Amino acid sequence: MVSRVIPVDPFDLVIFGGTGDLAQRKILPALFRRFCSGQWAEGVQIIGAARTIHDRAGFQTMVAESLRTHAAAQCQDEGALRAFLDRVDYVTLDGYSNEGWDQLSDKLNQDRVRAFYFSVGPRLFGPLAERIKAHDLATPSTRIVVEKPFGHDLESARALNATLAAHFRESQIYRIDHYLGKETVQNLMAVRFGNMLFEPLWNSQYVDHIQITVAESVGIDGREEYYERAGAMRDMMQNHLMQLLCLIAMEPPAKFDPDAVRDEKSKVIRALDQVQPHHIVRGQFDGGGSGKGYSETVGNPRSTTESYVALRAHISNWRWAGTPFYLRTGKRLVARSSVINVMFKDAPHSIFGEEAGRHANVLSIRLQPNEGITLKVTIKEPGPGGMRLVDVPLDMSFAKALGSGNQDPPDAYERLVMDVIRGNQTLFMRGDEVEAAWAWTDPIIAGWHARGDVPKPYESGSTGPGDAELLMKRDGRRWQGINP
Ligand code: NAD
Repeated sequence: MVSRVIPVDPFDLVIFGGTGDLAQRKILPALFRRFCSGQWAEGVQIIGAARTIHDRAGFQTMVAESLRTHAAAQCQDEGALRAFLDRVDYVTLDGYSNEGWDQLSDKLNQDRVRAFYFSVGPRLFGPLAERIKAHDLATPSTRIVVEKPFGHDLESARALNATLAAHFRESQIYRIDHYLGKETVQNLMAVRFGNMLFEPLWNSQYVDHIQITVAESVGIDGREEYYERAGAMRDMMQNHLMQLLCLIAMEPPAKFDPDAVRDEKSKVIRALDQVQPHHIVRGQFDGGGSGKGYSETVGNPRSTTESYVALRAHISNWRWAGTPFYLRTGKRLVARSSVINVMFKDAPHSIFGEEAGRHANVLSIRLQPNEGITLKVTIKEPGPGGMRLVDVPLDMSFAKALGSGNQDPPDAYERLVMDVIRGNQTLFMRGDEVEAAWAWTDPIIAGWHARGDVPKPYESGSTGPGDAELLMKRDGRRWQGINP
């Protein structure tokens, strides 16, 4: 099955920070892939805007190089590349002064969707919003896209929301969490709410517990300064894992509408209990055989920033009371793997006798790599010799089921940027959701500071600190493997 391409009307997209890493590595390649798919009408305009001095040709050369590196499959076609670059323009502009804003204004078209992508550090979000307004660049069909991190704690997130709200309506603000743009994440909603099969079982009566793992094999190279201030709790848990938790746990919204979905997600965050100190494990990778340890990487031997966190969360509502959610994320782990495992309870009684073995069903939702969903079911082991039970996976790999040949599903940024243009906020975080997530995160971090908590070391290339295994073992459970 080949995915359908629904064309969008002409638009102007301004990428503040167009020369930066995110724009060059993710946003522009995603736009190029959408262009190659034929989704755009004539006349679309992409304008890079950053402090770095470039003319249009210089920026186009930079973009061409990035596309050759990061969109290699599509870049074979030089004709398509040239046609895309024809739509790419550049303005040298400073977010803190008036330099460059009149030139930007001259390039923008009237009467079409106008999107401003803030692919810059969060300090610039406020100044950019103010200048867009001051230079009269905001039309009724203007949208702004803001990248993570959205705040450092509740107070800063509130301040940022207030600054943006002073210039834009909430319906114009798109807070990106690229995990929400993944094919599997949306499929999670399709599986839950498009089938009769799962929803009746989706509660504490049938689900023993849920595991959410976002494991990375990379370290923090190139992001040392930011990471040392953030740590895994702020960098991953407060946003990506929290969003996945919401989608897994939320009640069915009345319709697939941005506010209906986001209302239900918000309710999940508000129903979360405060995490008990003995239900949380922090870790920090040491060197092992594969390079520098964390503290050496950041140049701070006394660093107490966590590069790993595992915790047990509880949602106090009718559906989930009594079902723990185990969340873990870390750097320099054994493999890159993001997966949600819904661990169903054992059958209440085995008619085959204990010797046949007991096997609980597991629904695994893989976000990366190899996006797809697997349901582990129990069958009879083939052959004579009595009734022995084995697990077999019912596997739905999206690349195989929905791609054409070996084509991967669209990258998260492709979908999200096109959703901005279409004006669909379903996969973007609302201001109150972000604040609620910080309200849950802040006391955890404050508790670490108050207790002088020091992260447990773990070996690079491992599955994390041993205490994380104990967290599960104490409850008579164990983590599923971290497999590439
Ligand atoms: P970067 O440092 O590579 O790029 C920053 C860009 O901002 C550059 O184009 C620079 O010229 C521009 N800039 C800086 N000061 C400016 C000013 N005063 N006026 C106008 N332009 C200015 O950063 P990045 O890695 O591309 O990250 C951008 C944002 O995206 C950050 O908020 C980051 O946290 C977030 N983010 C990045 C990634 C990633 O993979 N790089 C992933 C998720 C989120």
